[in-house]
Amino acid sequence: LQSKLPHIGTTIFTKMSRLAQEHHAINLSQGFPNFMPNEELIQQANEAISSHRNQYAPLGGLPELRQKLSDKFDTLYNHKYDWESEITITAGATQAIFTAISTLIHPGDEVVVFKPAYDCYEPAVELYGGIVKPVQLEAPDYNIPWQKVKDLVGDKTKLIIINTPHNPTGYVWTKEDFENLKSIIRDTSAYVLSDEVYEHMVFDEHMHHSICSDPELASRSIATFSFGKTYHVTGWKLGYAVAPKALMNEFRKVHQYNVFCVNHPLQYALSQILDEPQHYLKLDEFYQHKRDQFLKLVEGSRFKFTPSQGTYFQLADYSEISDLPDTEFCLELIKTHGLAAIPISVFNHDKLQQGQIRFCFAKTDETLKEAAKIINDI
Ligand code: GLN
Repeated sequence: LQSKLPHIGTTIFTKMSRLAQEHHAINLSQGFPNFMPNEELIQQANEAISSHRNQYAPLGGLPELRQKLSDKFDTLYNHKYDWESEITITAGATQAIFTAISTLIHPGDEVVVFKPAYDCYEPAVELYGGIVKPVQLEAPDYNIPWQKVKDLVGDKTKLIIINTPHNPTGYVWTKEDFENLKSIIRDTSAYVLSDEVYEHMVFDEHMHHSICSDPELASRSIATFSFGKTYHVTGWKLGYAVAPKALMNEFRKVHQYNVFCVNHPLQYALSQILDEPQHYLKLDEFYQHKRDQFLKLVEGSRFKFTPSQGTYFQLADYSEISDLPDTEFCLELIKTHGLAAIPISVFNHDKLQQGQIRFCFAKTDETLKEAAKIINDI
């Protein structure tokens, strides 16, 4: 068989979580909470399965869920997406991203990707014959180098993939970043794929600016979101995409033959919990507390931390501890110290940035304390 993705192996998240289990290590690698989601959400899911919600949902998703999301976009981002034609419920943000890329990319199209980049973007671009044009973000700030973006964007640019808050660095795009993006693409035919799965995890003085809140950008963008992140249910694999009608119409042509529709009873449960905005409005505070707690616990360690601006990830600089490349350092961390983290070079394979690893702090207080004990002893 001639592989379509010859250089791709199993994702680092799967590998690290598997190794963490094998070595009984504390798992701060793959991003997922190790605590229970909201009790009422579980009850709603149970009820939906016990009643009559066990057959196909409509192709675009459950109407009441899409209607409530449409209201949420209006309230938070001042953009009215038509629930029927502009919002689609997907199997996590992953399927939304894959579908968006497959909808837009023809062979030879150029796609600007900011690196380090979440791992699912590039393989999808490659599968559809697109050409990745990387823009490297540099430690320790990981700001967007706008001149480089300007130099790269041209007639062949079909898509720019952005991610704010950013996995793995935690960088949160500013209003100026969006203004720069807008002026660079104004006279081109480029689209934007805006991955905003961590929209409700933003800390300190930072604020989430959604691409949806800028009418000019929103008119040429597909934005993707994840219920998994917002409701502590990553295993439910539910998310959504929003886009202007014509674009969403093309997106649905792919979606309908890729999956047709996604999990019906869980969509119902989420539609019920969306009536209570405090669940997502309080998430920034909830995760800021976790981040602060984690940073306080590891204050005495030899790792160096620049506080994450958003997401549930914290980068750690281990250059005072070891000269090993980050993947080897993570393997040593698991095998010798019983702690799993993610090497960030895997988000980043053009120019390896060494010396930084990623910890996930979406963990119980006990787990964070146990992890900190190990971190402080290294
Ligand atoms: N997004 C999660 C992370 O960055 C992983 C999800 C997955 O394993 N695909 O850790």
